Amino acid sequence: MVAHGRLAQAHRPGEVAHARRPVLAGRDEREEPQPGRVALPVVVVGAGPVGLAAAAHLLERGLEPLVLEQGELAGAAVSAWGHVRLFSPWRYDIDAAARRLLEPTGWVAPDPEALPTGAELVDRYLRPLSETAPIAGRLRTRARVLGITHDGADKTRSLGRDRMPYRVRVMTGGAVDDVLAQAVIDTSGTWGRSNPLGVGGLPALGEADAGDALCGPLPDILGADRADFAGRHTLMVGMGHSPANSLLALVELAESAPGTRITWAIRGGSARRLFGGGTDDELPARGLLGTRLKEATESGHVTLVRWTSIEQLVPSGDGVRVLGRSRDDLLDLTVSRIVNATGFRPDLDITREIRLDLDPALECVRGLAELIDPNQHSCGTVPPHGEALLAHPDAGFYLAGMKSYGRAPTFLLATGYEQVRSIAAALAGDRAAADRVHLDLPATGVCSTDVTEDGSESSGCGTSAEPQLVTLRVGAPGLGFATGVTHGRAGDADAS
Ligand SMILES: Cc1cc2nc3c(=O)[nH]c(=O)nc-3n(C[C@H](O)[C@H](O)[C@H](O)COP(=O)(O)OP(=O)(O)OC[C@H]3O[C@@H](n4cnc5c(N)ncnc54)[C@H](O)[C@@H]3O)c2cc1C
Repeated sequence: MVAHGRLAQAHRPGEVAHARRPVLAGRDEREEPQPGRVALPVVVVGAGPVGLAAAAHLLERGLEPLVLEQGELAGAAVSAWGHVRLFSPWRYDIDAAARRLLEPTGWVAPDPEALPTGAELVDRYLRPLSETAPIAGRLRTRARVLGITHDGADKTRSLGRDRMPYRVRVMTGGAVDDVLAQAVIDTSGTWGRSNPLGVGGLPALGEADAGDALCGPLPDILGADRADFAGRHTLMVGMGHSPANSLLALVELAESAPGTRITWAIRGGSARRLFGGGTDDELPARGLLGTRLKEATESGHVTLVRWTSIEQLVPSGDGVRVLGRSRDDLLDLTVSRIVNATGFRPDLDITREIRLDLDPALECVRGLAELIDPNQHSCGTVPPHGEALLAHPDAGFYLAGMKSYGRAPTFLLATGYEQVRSIAAALAGDRAAADRVHLDLPATGVCSTDVTEDGSESSGCGTSAEPQLVTLRVGAPGLGFATGVTHGRAGDADAS
């Protein structure tokens, strides 16, 4: 049993060099923070790319970050998909403040046009960044955040709430302690929290007992996990870049391992938005991924089953029988392995005592929902946005990075880096810099609004029509971005 630990004021005395008045009471009607609160660290949950970028920006602003990471090392989630190559070249993958920390150390910047694997992102960027002296002294690994609240008020209590520091409960090894914080940036991502296979969001009957026949997204099909797939029948479930990567790996495996069979089940009626914009995609690797998958499907190497609803899994020999429906037909398929690549959902348990403003459908920050709703847009293009959009009823608490998107799948690193730049500026009291948001995102060349349910084209949002790399400089003080501009196209820039 875990003993209840001591209260730890995690910052080191004297290290909080500039205790500036932050955004905690930044909105006019809020109460003044308790004396001393602003001298506490800003806790960053998770040392992924966005968490480390947050730390770098906080340091530049003279604020004191404390990064709590559950993994053994920074970039733990990225390491889990280390064999996968990103479709964003290095120039989109490195945060500007992080670069400024790294450069004086003799770090050699990777070729900006090269595409790293997840492992290379960790080895050449995240690990060196985590080892810079300013970050290393403020990073606790093997430290899992269990819960976040105010120091003295549960979720129901309003009186004095904004004045109170945050209290973050952390388990390090077997020991549990609490850390006080002036603000919290939760960049804990969504990796490891897969959606279940059941189409209604609940697990299919028998899913919990499927054992080894069911695995998470992105197994290392051509490497460590090869034997699980070679010469066997795999059912891939899901639409997105993760299943696309795995399907192509299976196609490659099938060339050298006879008997390898691939069935791909999607919930909708068309895979066109995943096939993507091809040569219209401004990230060529992403375009190529879609093009190759389209070829593999059309040539019969991959059998596509549309309108799939999986209802039950039944153990069968060393595999599993999958029962459900495919539109009006019954689905009854026996496979060796199922790869669940149906996407992720955020861990909202740790924020249960925080007053959040989330979209009820996507579980993302509410203001982001209409910009990233996969029912509307499948492309990762999003207007620049910052602290004003990301704020919650509890001042000084933020979801950023992948987690800010909730269940929406199109998050890109560059978006997260701009989020945390703006948050750090706001926490330091620099409202103007917080609201001056900008973002360079490459357009995909296709968006789901361009595709109807049966796969035909509609007028849509039109990224396929005029894909252009534009910098959107959109920002109204107190608003963070102008609504109505959702995609980078010629003519959309400078919409403010
Ligand atoms: C296969 C794949 C390919 C991708 N390719 C691209 C690409 O090409 N370009 C692009 O821009 N984006 C890409 N993305 C999307 C996105 O940029 C990445 O998922 C990125 O890692 C998100 O960064 P993050 O810091 O928000 O979260 P993560 O990288 O998920 O980091 C979160 C960290 O928080 C830690 N953590 C979680 N819970 C806790 C807790 N309770 N306490 C303490 N620590 C915790 C985790 O261990 C992890 O280290 C890709 C994603 C995947 C999965």
